[in-house]
Amino acid sequence: MFLTETHCHTAETSACASATGAQQAEQYKARGYDTIIVTDHFLNGNTTVDRNLPWERQVEDFCRGYENAKKRGDEIGLTVLFGIEYAWDGADFLIYGVDKKWLLDNPDCASIRPHTFCDRVHAAGGCVVHAHPFRGADYLHDMKFLPWHTDGVEVYNAGNREKVWNDRAKWYAEQYGFIATAGSDCHHLTDTDKFFGVLTENKIERIEDYVSAVLDKKIAGLCVPEQYR
Ligand SMILES: [Zn+2]
Ligand SMILES: [Zn+2]
Repeated sequence: MFLTETHCHTAETSACASATGAQQAEQYKARGYDTIIVTDHFLNGNTTVDRNLPWERQVEDFCRGYENAKKRGDEIGLTVLFGIEYAWDGADFLIYGVDKKWLLDNPDCASIRPHTFCDRVHAAGGCVVHAHPFRGADYLHDMKFLPWHTDGVEVYNAGNREKVWNDRAKWYAEQYGFIATAGSDCHHLTDTDKFFGVLTENKIERIEDYVSAVLDKKIAGLCVPEQYR
């Protein structure tokens, strides 16, 4: 089995993260992961990117954390892939299967409706996984769902403080027949055991491999320490 991180952040691009892309690559390599997907907060979320810059510069800055992680990953033998954590007024969606060129080709994508954004992701061959759908926090006033635009649900999120938030996510996934995923939502260098991920029979070498694992329901297992299940 091969282990993939589906949800992590870098300090270069996510305003709430302290681990750089290179540090994340090293941390995950040391923990035995085969692949990580960097999902920094998008330009409509908690980003470090200056939204007043021209679109090309915003995209350049948004991709910096991923690119630094990939550079270090290439040096140490860790596969590093590109993803996005898209924000919709408190709801978060993990986007896989689009890249820097797609962002450059869609200069309005941080301001269009979430449904339209997801339609474009699907048209480009990507997929949408609802991140920690039932998380509670002071800054959250309601919950939003896109069941007709969702392919998977992050049932286990290591950043969820309360287990019942994961239980509810499991219920949501089961109700709609969505594939379940797990992710660490890791922002920092840490020595805790809060490292989650997905297991697959074949190594996730390209982002297309992960998109088809989600769409064809080929995730073989979830890596979640027993005490968090
Ligand atoms: Zn964050
Ligand atoms: Zn996140």
